[in-house]
Amino acid sequence: MKNEQEIPKEYCPYCGKNLIRILLEKEQGKYNIQYVNEKVGISNWDSIFAWKCPYCSKTWGREL
Ligand SMILES: [Zn+2]
Repeated sequence: MKNEQEIPKEYCPYCGKNLIRILLEKEQGKYNIQYVNEKVGISNWDSIFAWKCPYCSKTWGREL
């Protein structure tokens, strides 16, 4: 086992879709990361105050 990162679990609070996408091996090598989080940050200037689900388009506050 080499550099196994812990892959978090995160689901949309509305539609329950898994927001963590595991990258393919060739993508992992290219970006040097194992997964991406597909939720979209909604920012006001430079601070993110909410997230948006790319599947159902609902938004929720950061604390959720
Ligand atoms: Zn959703």
